[in-house]
Amino acid sequence: LMQLFRPLDMLGWVYRTIRQGLIDMAEMFRLMDTDVEVEDPPSAPALIIRRPTVAFENVVFGYERDRTILNGLSFEVPAGDNIAIVGPSGAGKSTIARLLFRFYDPWSGRILIDGQDIATVKQASVREAIGIVPQDSVLFNDTIGYNIAYGKDGAGEDAVRSAARDAAIMPFIEALPQGFETEVGERGLKLSGGEKQRVAIARTLVKDPPILMLDEATSALDSRTEQDILATLDRISRHRTTLSIAHRLSTVASAHEILVLDQGKLAERGTHTDLLKMDGLYAEMWARQQNEE
Ligand code: ATP
Repeated sequence: LMQLFRPLDMLGWVYRTIRQGLIDMAEMFRLMDTDVEVEDPPSAPALIIRRPTVAFENVVFGYERDRTILNGLSFEVPAGDNIAIVGPSGAGKSTIARLLFRFYDPWSGRILIDGQDIATVKQASVREAIGIVPQDSVLFNDTIGYNIAYGKDGAGEDAVRSAARDAAIMPFIEALPQGFETEVGERGLKLSGGEKQRVAIARTLVKDPPILMLDEATSALDSRTEQDILATLDRISRHRTTLSIAHRLSTVASAHEILVLDQGKLAERGTHTDLLKMDGLYAEMWARQQNEE
């Protein structure tokens, strides 16, 4: 009998893995836009995080041999701090996220999480430590509960509920006649941009990652919803090390530090107030956006 069941179990596992793989890839490719090409060194240990610091040390990287995108980039994020990365389009902001997720290895220099070079530990352990809230998430044609639980293999009901609460989507779910069992997506309930965003946040929170990477999470929302979501992101990032990639400067003014990237180099760094005083690239970008708004 076992022999009959094993293959079926296996099929179920393959099916789930493929399904997860698809959505992972859909999401990652949108953010990461890349082929996976790095390999674990043989018998690489798992990343062990006591204090989730993140550091780039003189990182040089490009996608193509003769075109350098990051030119010796260095910065440190203390555990629990919230830093924002801003800069003109094409400056290399998303590239930083891709490298931290170890979709590529730097040409030279190192990327450290809690003092460990991420190129020397298991990739899976690096990715497990980082939660990504992308700009717009992919939802399955499945229940809202499934869509949240999928953030972590084997997430239990308590973890899903707690994540939904922290993402401030619990009142919405509880008001649905079928609650967490409500089907969403093309054939089910259509969620608004803000609700989808909250499902994505809950999905990330199920992982309970010590490090968060926010990819300009609020670009497609109306300003009231944006403010609400920002407040939620602010709350969940409070005890996590957070890197936010942002285009709109109004969303980063409260960061502990803002890194202003220009052509793969750190052009300026400081708090919003520091940077305005500096009267350089950031001040210029700020003035331009104020005018536009
Ligand atoms: P934006 O604000 O427009 O999203 P960004 O600062 O996030 O820009 P990146 O996406 O990091 O910029 O891209 C930096 C540079 O690297 C760009 O010139 C881009 O064309 C190039 N680039 C990005 N991905 C690849 C890739 N997979 N292959 C080759 N070049 C790439």
